[in-house]
Amino acid sequence: DRIARRRDREFSEFRKRIKDTEQFKVEASVFDDATFAALYKLVQDGYIDAFGAPISTGKEANVYTALAGSESPDAGGADLTVDTDGDEGSDDTGSDDTGGDERDRSTSDDQPPTPDAEREVAVKVYRINASDFKDMRGYLDGDPRFEGIGSDKKKVVTAWVRKEFANLRRAREAGVRVPEPIAVERNVLVMEYIATEAGRAKRLNEVHIENPETAFEVLREYMRRLHRAGLVHGDLSEYNVVFHEGQLVVIDLGQAVTTHSPNAEDFLRRDCTNVANFFASQGVEVTSDGLYEFVTAE
Ligand code: ADP
Ligand code: MN
Repeated sequence: DRIARRRDREFSEFRKRIKDTEQFKVEASVFDDATFAALYKLVQDGYIDAFGAPISTGKEANVYTALAGSESPDAGGADLTVDTDGDEGSDDTGSDDTGGDERDRSTSDDQPPTPDAEREVAVKVYRINASDFKDMRGYLDGDPRFEGIGSDKKKVVTAWVRKEFANLRRAREAGVRVPEPIAVERNVLVMEYIATEAGRAKRLNEVHIENPETAFEVLREYMRRLHRAGLVHGDLSEYNVVFHEGQLVVIDLGQAVTTHSPNAEDFLRRDCTNVANFFASQGVEVTSDGLYEFVTAE
């Protein structure tokens, strides 16, 4: 009982501490009590430490940086390299990233770990009360991983967050460079923060692409790997791919569906159109149909 009281006190202090933080004053409504409880649990479990700046305020979710807790792994892994104009810093900081899969991770384990104080994670907080939540339901339909969820708002959102976590993991296992998923709690997802000292990695629409042909080939290969792993991104465009240390990193996999989903075909067609249109605007000779053929070829 004394322990329970102490836990309650610590929780209120935690909530007050977050609420008093400058960046949360403005948007305190984002966090209902259950969200504070989820954040608190993530702190208790050692996944996150102090909160940092907000990096994005979206329709359904806000993304923040936070200091990594002791349980957050060092991020690692990289894949096919792409040239940019150096916006993301082409300086070699000595981290020898050479691969995106688990095999290659073992080589980066030999490197001295970054001191905890400097490590950051990205925290994506979904709003249970987002009016758009109705749309989420459709993305869960036909996904065998989330059968029988029903239409309870909270259940749909928490299933959605678990889906994003599972999608990130599956994409990663398939050799697609995505943020490493770290933890999930209720409506909160903790993942690797893709960034340099200069801040968050820039999206494809924000950088000048030095070599669009190569970038296209990398993304096309990612789409194929994803498809072979049974996933369709569903919102793929220049807004959900970032450049980081010469590589492309695909983000925002919450709405990704399995290839068996009734929506999979439409989503894939749309992804192909978005990606083809973007790279065509960059001077690459590409058609939506050609891309679709490549992605779905056996
Ligand atoms: P939304 O559904 O709001 O589009 P996203 O997952 O795309 O959510 O995140 C919004 C923005 O936050 C992205 O465009 C990107 O700039 C940034 N962002 C999200 N996740 C990360 C991450 N893991 N590392 C770095 N930046 C991120
Ligand atoms: Mn997005």
